[in-house]
Amino acid sequence: MISNCFHKDKRAIVVSGPCSAESREQLFSTVDAIKDCVDAVRVGIWKPRTNPYSFQGVGEEGLKWISEIKQEYNLKIATEVANAEHVELALKSGIDILWIGARSTTNPFIVQEIAEALKGVDTTVLIKNPINPDLELWCGAIERILLAGIERVGAIHRGFSYYGKGKYRNMPQWQLPIDLKQRYPDITLLCDPSHLSGDRKYVMELSQKAMLLGFDGVFIESHISPESAKSDANQQITPDELKKIINTLKVHKKSVDDSSYNIKLEELRTQIDGIDNALIELLSQRMEIVKEIGELKKMNNSSILQSERWGKVLERAIQSGKELGLDSDFVSSIFKLIHQAAIEKQTKDF
Ligand code: PEP
Ligand code: MN
Repeated sequence: MISNCFHKDKRAIVVSGPCSAESREQLFSTVDAIKDCVDAVRVGIWKPRTNPYSFQGVGEEGLKWISEIKQEYNLKIATEVANAEHVELALKSGIDILWIGARSTTNPFIVQEIAEALKGVDTTVLIKNPINPDLELWCGAIERILLAGIERVGAIHRGFSYYGKGKYRNMPQWQLPIDLKQRYPDITLLCDPSHLSGDRKYVMELSQKAMLLGFDGVFIESHISPESAKSDANQQITPDELKKIINTLKVHKKSVDDSSYNIKLEELRTQIDGIDNALIELLSQRMEIVKEIGELKKMNNSSILQSERWGKVLERAIQSGKELGLDSDFVSSIFKLIHQAAIEKQTKDF
């Protein structure tokens, strides 16, 4: 059985704090500035860094600062654990919420080790999605933690890795968290717009999108001085920016019709966005082949416009469109545009 990880009211749940604890001073000043607007503080002690030469987290020393913070502010604290020793040390220091990072969720051995260490413990565990878009792997990790007897289990959507550079550091692929919520309707689902975007300027838009999609809250990196952060400096926001985001976030009540309309609409729009991306991708692939054909024609000194072939292309497209319920004029206008662009490309390269 899954139970709530946080309060259950109309507000968005807010978990925020620095990517990493860096010093006692940095941790205290950040927490002091955000204490009134968070449900829990997130802070990394052991950091799963890609580069072995970069800052790896302060380790156990940070746990002492956390104990002091807890005494002073009476706030719930969350940290990432990646093995049984982390679990033991974190629990000993009174940490209230453990989270499993994206890299760890990917590995069932690690999740199992954490699950064993959690047997018989009463705590809250948040599970980030695996770095690859594999819903079953995410669910498998959730199941392992549930099997250990933990009831306050939540999930964090932080996007999926890909090779290359896009608008966001990680691909959102919103359909996965949507499917996860369908499978576990009672799970607390948070969105991590910081790791999703990798860039503080998108934290607001992604937080809002998550609210529209029916997420329960946000998991945001904030830092007293983001530019000088030792990890993820690009994506952390100041306490003031955090407050502004929280105050601007529109949360849609889940129980009224209006909000199910909004959630459904946003789901459908997300699907449309995915299809549009695929269309663009296909058009670009088509253009690459057009280019190759152009080169072939050039080498063989053949004319670019082959009316017979073009007639067949159009006829075929109209026919397939018809079979799928698309209007002939609509298909014809689109294909004329595509053909025109192809001819132009080949003429330019000739
Ligand atoms: C983090 O939250 O600091 C972190 C390392 O995140 P992720 O596991 O999503 O990369
Ligand atoms: Mn981080």
